[in-house]
Amino acid sequence: MYWEKDSETVPVETLRGMQLRGLQEVVVNAAHSHFYAQRFADAGISPSDITSLEDLSRIPFTTKDDLREDWPYGFLALPKEDMVRMHSSSGTTGRATVIFHTREDIDGWTDIVARSMYMTGMRRSDVFQNMMTYALFTGGLGFHYGAEKLGALVIPIGAGNSNRQIQLMCDFQTTVIHIIPSYALYLTTVFEDLGVDPRRDTHLKIAFLGAEPHSEHSRRRIEEFYGVKAYNSYGLSEMNGPGVAFECPAQKGMHIWEDHYIVEIIDPVTLKTVAEGEEGELVLTTLRRRGMPILRYRTKDLTRIIPGECECGRTHRRIARITGRTDDMMIVKGVNMFPIQIERQLMKIPGVGTNFHIILDQEDYTDRMIVKVEVQKDYFAGDLRQLEALRRQIVDNLKSEILITPKVELVEPNTLPTSEGKAVRVFDKREK
Ligand code: AMP
Ligand code: ZN
Repeated sequence: MYWEKDSETVPVETLRGMQLRGLQEVVVNAAHSHFYAQRFADAGISPSDITSLEDLSRIPFTTKDDLREDWPYGFLALPKEDMVRMHSSSGTTGRATVIFHTREDIDGWTDIVARSMYMTGMRRSDVFQNMMTYALFTGGLGFHYGAEKLGALVIPIGAGNSNRQIQLMCDFQTTVIHIIPSYALYLTTVFEDLGVDPRRDTHLKIAFLGAEPHSEHSRRRIEEFYGVKAYNSYGLSEMNGPGVAFECPAQKGMHIWEDHYIVEIIDPVTLKTVAEGEEGELVLTTLRRRGMPILRYRTKDLTRIIPGECECGRTHRRIARITGRTDDMMIVKGVNMFPIQIERQLMKIPGVGTNFHIILDQEDYTDRMIVKVEVQKDYFAGDLRQLEALRRQIVDNLKSEILITPKVELVEPNTLPTSEGKAVRVFDKREK
């Protein structure tokens, strides 16, 4: 049941002790980097000041802008010769941030990915199809190494090429897939076009869904269509990539591996820690990474700690599904909202298809929101009244969620452009 029982079920007191020792080490190590040497000097702190976990709050936060400013090598705490791999964030705005790993860093990362996969029931007898981009994005190689360490047979197909994905799944009796949730939804329409039913024609049993926010309803749709149990996988390149937090079979939040990371949840405005269980911005500190340690990194991801113990026996705390990023909040007619709120409502409604776009523009200097929604095939077959009823229902559901009335346009399946990587849902055409 456990990849490494001792680490996964370690008593909380012991875990906090390990974290303190880890923190003290990582701070000493970080001080060797150009960036943190300067940071510590500016803040007037020295590594020996860290004598308890509470002292963490004396260290200033690190942001993406910091990573960009001391780009590319300013965060290295060991000589560049010790690095064996570089990855980068898939950020589309500004200079992509880069992260470097030593051999041991890769081993540590691989171990928590293997741990995460094993936790869901994946074993060496499984055939694992990794449908994520390889290259600089961490989802490909991160899972690849973890799955090999676990001993599964890995099919490193990467992203895209839908027909071939389905062909390989059938031919090699793939049992486990790793896939971006928006792509998993899109792929259902390709399965249908090909007349392949994953429940009947494949051996699939587990799906790892990661890299982008998705709602519980999307998860259930994917589970239903593919006949799998789908597990939420959270990570970010700055913290290695996948394997930071992962769902266990209970599917009630993601265990965040506290022997590798220190977790804080802060109010993004006041920057103070929120009360346990309250939503805020996730802040993470690497405890194990030697080549490029990062302290108190502001992820911009919004989540909360789920209080209480998990039925699986693991003692590492759980975070809830990510509800958005502080930087993808939309303000429309003065109302704050996140794309996931739209998704959550849409995916609840049976006639809604697999993709949607949110377009923001202005009419007479007033914000306008247009939601284009793909509808399931059968709905376009005939009855216009049925379509209009669906449209009304979508408007009503969205209005109750976001408090403004969007214009809703229904479109045929597979007519909205898709992307191979993370889904792009929002198109803001308003004048800035
Ligand atoms: P990257 O560094 O390019 O891998 O992107 C990391 C970002 O992807 C995170 O900061 C999150 O915003 C998002 N992300 C990754 N996994 C998930 C997930 N399971 N749920 C929601 N968002 C995710
Ligand atoms: Zn659990």
